Formats: sequence, C-alpha cells, structure tokens
Amino acid sequence: MKKVNLLLLFTLILMPFVFQNLYAKQYVFIGYDSFCGLPIFTGQNPQIATAEKDSYGRPIIHIDPTALANLTSSRIFTLAHECAHHKLGHTSRLGEMERYHGGTRKQELEADCWAAKQLSQYGQFTDLQFQTLKNLADGHFIANGYPSGVERAQNIYSCATGTIVRHDASPRCSKKLVPKTVVVTTYQIIPTQAPCSHVRMGPYGPFAIHQFDLIPRKVPVQTPTTRMVEVTHCE
Ligand SMILES: [Zn+2]
Repeated sequence: MKKVNLLLLFTLILMPFVFQNLYAKQYVFIGYDSFCGLPIFTGQNPQIATAEKDSYGRPIIHIDPTALANLTSSRIFTLAHECAHHKLGHTSRLGEMERYHGGTRKQELEADCWAAKQLSQYGQFTDLQFQTLKNLADGHFIANGYPSGVERAQNIYSCATGTIVRHDASPRCSKKLVPKTVVVTTYQIIPTQAPCSHVRMGPYGPFAIHQFDLIPRKVPVQTPTTRMVEVTHCE
C-alpha cells in the first residue's frame, strides 16, 4: 500500500518535468532580440533561422543552435533579419500568401534591407561586412525562389550605405557591387623532359643513368576570374 502511494507521488512530481523536457527538445527560450524585443527560441531548424508564431499566434524567432555558433554568418544580422520578417508583415496571413505565390525573393531582400539599415544605424559594420562576404561566397546560386548570394550582398550593401548617400548633396549617387571578369596570371608547374644529366663512368666509358630528366618548369597561365567591383552610378 505504501509503495503504491510513493509511486503515485513520484509520478505527480516528475510528470511536469517530463513534459517540460519534451517541449525543450523542440524549443529552448534563450532571451529577447534587441531589434524587436521578440522572444528567441533555439531548437533544430533545417532552415537555420525562421520568423514564426507560437501556439498563441505570438511572433517568435526560431534559430538553430548551429547558427548561434556559426562563424560564417553574423548572428546579429540573422536575428535582425528574422525580426524584419515580423515587422514587415511577412508572417501575417497576407504575407504568407505573398510568399506562397512566389514572393520569397522579394521578402528575403526586404528583410535583408531592413536588417542592413538597422546594423548600419547601430554601427555594426564588422557584422555587415561579415554577412556581405558570406553572401558573396555563395555566388550566383539560386534555390527555392531565394535570391542568390551575390544579389543579397548587393542589396545589403546598397541598403546599408543608402542612408549615408542620401545625406550627400545632389546629384544622387548610389554604389553597387558588380561582378567583373578579370584575367589573372597564375603559374603552373609542368614537368618537362631534358636529356639526362646524370652521367656515370662505366666499363665502356661515360653513360647516362636514364634517357631523360624531368625538370619542373613554371608556366604562366591566364585565368579569367570573377571579382566584385564597386561602381558608382549618379543620376
Ligand atoms: Zn528570411
């Protein structure tokens, strides 16, 4: 009789912890973001970071733990970007509809732009540069309706610098990163054959050990590569 009571007591005490742990497997609350004051939850997220709504329809940011330890992209930028999705109404019903009907690229660029403006306003230039370089490294690859890395980098760049340019006197100028093909000279080591120089003395006089020696030769090679060049366009 006593044993049963004890077991019941244990169950009653432990059950809430079990439920908490089940929930924690998905989402762990880690704090509020400094841009929107929204709660941030970590938890496995194949999309790295997403602007979501909780079961009560309240906006949250869901970020993969790897993204928080990620050295290839800016955490600050990622949080600002997700915050922007909420701020710009992308997580609203209308926004979701727009995204569903091919609006992914537009929304991603809008969120990037908002984040870039915020970071530039708060002087987070190192993070901005970090994010831009990361995007540039992704190149022209396009997937799932997302903008390419190069397009994102250009967008971030013009959004971050746009505010500064606007204060300048007319004419209004804007800076843009443009891919440009330049020819770079690199060197290739090519082994070339030369008559053998390793001569030995034998019973019948001098003889070469082998017919040819392989001599490494530096050969210049013209390689076209793509570089991002800053171009100023004035109206
Ligand atoms: Zn996004």
